[in-house]
Amino acid sequence: MSDLWRPQNTLDLIRRYDFRFRKKFGQNFLIDSHVLDKIADAAQIDPDDCVLEIGPGIGTLTQVLAERARHVVAVEIDPELIPILSETLKEYSNVTVIQGDILKQDIAEIAETYNGGRPLNVTANLPYYITTPILMNLLESGAPVKSITVMVQKEVAERMQAGPGGKDYGALSLSVQFYAEPYLAANVPPNCFIPRPNVGSAVIRLTKRSEPPVRVRDREFLFQLIRAAFNQRRKTLANAVSHAGVGQVTRERAAGALKRLGLSETARGEELSLSEFAALSDLLGGGEKTPDNSGGPSAPGSN
Ligand code: SAM
Repeated sequence: MSDLWRPQNTLDLIRRYDFRFRKKFGQNFLIDSHVLDKIADAAQIDPDDCVLEIGPGIGTLTQVLAERARHVVAVEIDPELIPILSETLKEYSNVTVIQGDILKQDIAEIAETYNGGRPLNVTANLPYYITTPILMNLLESGAPVKSITVMVQKEVAERMQAGPGGKDYGALSLSVQFYAEPYLAANVPPNCFIPRPNVGSAVIRLTKRSEPPVRVRDREFLFQLIRAAFNQRRKTLANAVSHAGVGQVTRERAAGALKRLGLSETARGEELSLSEFAALSDLLGGGEKTPDNSGGPSAPGSN
């Protein structure tokens, strides 16, 4: 393994290829070996694992992952990085680089081709501009994934693991926690990257749940309710839900349902736990549904 992470080696390489960092691709390359090891440790890579890496950059983290896993599939959007990756990964016969957009990849097909259909271990220093779409796509699509260990913006990591009551708690916390158990593994300062991002970063591990922690009759309605509640988080939940037109629920009906659950009629979304949202969803939207509808083909997150 070369010491690609050394700042001088990274700089020499990108100069040699006349590579220009592209902000629009969220390119901040890691230059700290401790952080690389921390990510790989947090990912709990088994020697038999197939790792899906999103955005290998010049291959710094890829090399570390390839030392620990059976196979690494690395998806990189920037064609300018492909010749660099051919050089830095040439000694690794267990790495496959795919040039393309991660949001357009068929993850099930990658798992089928490189892991016999078994769940992938997703590990990455993510491009921050599309953190949420990447994570929600991986979680909601029911793609074969066992865990996701990623470097993200610190504030986003805090939102993912936040509980009710605080300013960080919102639709992202609830959606992530419905599908996975978050664990914040490390905080990472800007000086561990070239170029330095203007935000703090954190490594978070999301362990996919085999079953959601709450039962709900209509998953799609639950997420509509959650989105409505936090789109207008300063409004009371009853007002926000009726204003958003979710299931044509009136303010009075929403307030009545909150009361039936022993909650204040003027409660805001940030006061409700995931199980309270699920109970509210069953009272307001799940009434006409049968239990068989608990995640039909149209519902986000159906596995
Ligand atoms: N893994 C490298 C490292 O840690 O040094 C680079 C991480 S950098 C934060 C994010 C990488 O994701 C960049 O290489 C960028 O080109 C790539 N990227 C950005 N958008 C992408 C997308 N939609 N699909 C795949 N890769 C993407």
